[in-house]
Amino acid sequence: MGRYGIAQIVKFSDILDGTRIAAGGLADFATGIVSPTIRLGVTGLSRAGKTVFITALVHALLKGGRFPAFEALAQGRITRCYLEPQPDDSLPRFSYEQHLKALSGEDRHWPESTSRISQLRITAEYSPRGLIARNLGSGKLHIDIVDYPGEWLLDLPLMRMSYAEWSAATVAASRVPPRLAHAGEWHRLLASLDPLKPADEHDAIASSEVFTAYLARCRQDDVSLSTLPPGRFLMPGDYKGSPLLAFAPLDIAPDTNLPRGSLGALMERRYQSYVSTIVKPFFFGHFARLDRQIVLVDALTALNAGASAVMDLQTALTQILTCFRQGSNSIFSAMLGRRIDRILFAATKADLLHHTSHDRLENLLKLIVEDAMTRAEYTGAGIDVAALAAIRATREASVRQKGETLECIVGTPLAGEALGTTRFDGNTEAAIFPGDLPGDAAKALDGSLEGSLRFVRFRPPLPKDGAYPHIRLDRAMEFLLGDRFA
Ligand code: GDP
Repeated sequence: MGRYGIAQIVKFSDILDGTRIAAGGLADFATGIVSPTIRLGVTGLSRAGKTVFITALVHALLKGGRFPAFEALAQGRITRCYLEPQPDDSLPRFSYEQHLKALSGEDRHWPESTSRISQLRITAEYSPRGLIARNLGSGKLHIDIVDYPGEWLLDLPLMRMSYAEWSAATVAASRVPPRLAHAGEWHRLLASLDPLKPADEHDAIASSEVFTAYLARCRQDDVSLSTLPPGRFLMPGDYKGSPLLAFAPLDIAPDTNLPRGSLGALMERRYQSYVSTIVKPFFFGHFARLDRQIVLVDALTALNAGASAVMDLQTALTQILTCFRQGSNSIFSAMLGRRIDRILFAATKADLLHHTSHDRLENLLKLIVEDAMTRAEYTGAGIDVAALAAIRATREASVRQKGETLECIVGTPLAGEALGTTRFDGNTEAAIFPGDLPGDAAKALDGSLEGSLRFVRFRPPLPKDGAYPHIRLDRAMEFLLGDRFA
């Protein structure tokens, strides 16, 4: 058995967790009898493109458009789609209308990003493909889209690590580049703390603040690291300011015994509460109930930041795949007949590259995911990889310069974006050559691309004939939903 298999997770869970998922699962089962339901998880690290993807997906289903690879829509078999009240009263609703409004009109801007879990139910009426099925009547499918921060999936390893083990591993990682350059203030604070001295709440709060600032710095675009648990420190959701987050690693050995009443013991207690109160309910209550999953990956920002960011992204995807590994939720699947059976890894914002690089972006992600599958000892659901732009903000043009043809993208860069000495005002169109992705995807991991690519952010486009332009969104829809409209 691998490191994070089912046996460990079940051993850590208490009986309450089991009841909670059984309750959720039985409710799903009951609604599933009335009308088939598919629960589609949409995840990815912050700024990967979850909000934009869901808004574009729902817009496509409600308003139609050019989606040739999504057969049910292209063949006109989806006859009607509408939003319905969501089934889970305890989950916030995904603010589709608000996000669409942000993307509309002269003052359009990208919508506010995902910061917590949310859900939206869209119901589709369709005519089935076969003659016999059609004669039996029209079909109806509820699609429950669940949006949640990918950071939360990176908490899975905490369920089987003690506080001392996690502390030692986190401190050790911060002592090597590229993290070392950003850990100065936290290391100074760590050096001043004695884990064995009597607990002091101020030390716990100060540690957690300085440690969170270190994580946030490692996440910024120029560093762009991905593996930065605990997930709620960067994406607190409803736990912002909660004492459950008032802990941090201490400089201790993995087998340290922390005496009662010490600072270390206080941190250890909070860590354990974090795992039992936040991490486990998320995994058992929400994650274990999904049928399909799309993991959005902003590979371009990682490429911008360099090889260490791409390698750290690979580590994060390995951990994410560990969560999806066959068996991770198989007890619950066996009990309730549910299991994630398809996962799509999608590199987002493909419109920041010329189409000649789209397959290369896909190959790069494939390389990263295949390696992650090997490292996670992954067997399980069907996996596919795609490069897409849920909303395409650019068009293409060939530009001749100094006797050379450059394949450029054209759009309106956001105000404040810069390229070389040019700073954009947010109103002027520009043709930009972002660089070429290499034919050999392995070059993205060996450092030889450093500095050769540069991506800027563009203003969102207006819809054309009522639909947003996209790249390969229809392929993603076909993979994730297509078979359910048979
Ligand atoms: P989230 O944190 O995963 O919810 O990320 P968002 O969906 O909010 O996306 C973060 C940012 O990425 C947006 O504000 C846009 O600037 C950019 N973005 C997302 N999707 C696209 C896309 O399809 N094309 C382009 N050009 N930019 C995108």
